[in-house]
Amino acid sequence: MVSREIHEIFTSFQGEGSLLGRRQIFIRFRGCSLNCFYCDTKNARTKDLMASPTDVEEVIRRIESLITPDLHSISFTGGEPLESCDLLMELASRCKTLGLACYLETAGVDADAFKKVVDLFDYAAIDVKLQNHRAVSTHEAWSRLYQEELVCIRIAATAGLYTIVKIVIPEDTTPRMIADVCHDISEYAIDLILQPLTGGKAPSIELLLELSAVAGAYLKNRVMVIPQVHRLYRDGSGSRFM
Ligand code: SF4
Repeated sequence: MVSREIHEIFTSFQGEGSLLGRRQIFIRFRGCSLNCFYCDTKNARTKDLMASPTDVEEVIRRIESLITPDLHSISFTGGEPLESCDLLMELASRCKTLGLACYLETAGVDADAFKKVVDLFDYAAIDVKLQNHRAVSTHEAWSRLYQEELVCIRIAATAGLYTIVKIVIPEDTTPRMIADVCHDISEYAIDLILQPLTGGKAPSIELLLELSAVAGAYLKNRVMVIPQVHRLYRDGSGSRFM
């Protein structure tokens, strides 16, 4: 199903973070105003204005057709779901009515939008973008983004969601960068995922061990280092999922 705001709907296993391996139905939203250099969903980053508006009933029918006995939750991912806040609220609300657990994957770009939807979600996976991710082009824009992310993390944790904070780790990540973030989130009951970048700018195991120890000084045993596992899944033709 393709529409102006929804890029794809499919079932698979969660490939990142604390819920690794859980069966989910993924609703991938179109549109993201950030520009991380490692983005692996580039074709979902712009809204397709030529496509038809989203038919909510069709999305719900598609979800119902994909439900399996091992289903853990519905993952609202992107792109950036918070950039389609009204549709996100409507779909998550319908999923809750069906008794389905809801999981939001977001870069925390808009704390006001996050506040509107938080009560509809059971899980939130919030990315923190470091300056070396080049998600935005100026230091001022990065500072604003970082503050939005921190507010989203606070809202999720204090609302009682299972909250996962994810940081992608390129090879030039410094202990200072990780210490600063961990200092700012240490009071919240969250899992911290350090996700090593795959490909050309992948960090060494020595750097990951060092960064994990730095994070542990603030977050103790809530720190995990987990690569993107869905890159290892193959479809029937032998192709890897990306
Ligand atoms: S926030 Fe996610 S979708 Fe947006 S550019 Fe970064 S990696 Fe891509």
